[in-house]
Amino acid sequence: MKVPPNAPCACHSGQKYKRCCRPYHRGAQVGQPELLMRARYAAFSYGLAAYVMQTTHPSSPSIEADPAAWERSILEFARDTRFAGLEVEAASASENEASVTFRAMLWQGERDVSFTERSRFLREGDRWLYHSGVVS
Ligand SMILES: [Zn+2]
Repeated sequence: MKVPPNAPCACHSGQKYKRCCRPYHRGAQVGQPELLMRARYAAFSYGLAAYVMQTTHPSSPSIEADPAAWERSILEFARDTRFAGLEVEAASASENEASVTFRAMLWQGERDVSFTERSRFLREGDRWLYHSGVVS
């Protein structure tokens, strides 16, 4: 999907996409787990499956054994979901591990599928990766 660079970023930061998550989607390293969380939310919204997959830790429980099936499920989720809002409620990080608690406002048709998740991120070398999340 081609995302207009001047459109508001799908992570609901209020900034233009080109000044927000686009650099990350193009390969720039994300310095903070909170920004990675936002960039992943935007990637889900835009159907950027490769970004979601590349920023998932190799030992994450959300990895699917078949990459093609994993990609399809990300794309289906993106297609079937309206990404209506994102609020980061808390973020903390130590040297190699971080947690970000966020509320994702999501709709699938008329159904509110919003959730609050406490995500765990792990540092691998010079980059942060999503590991897992607990939905509350
Ligand atoms: Zn963004």
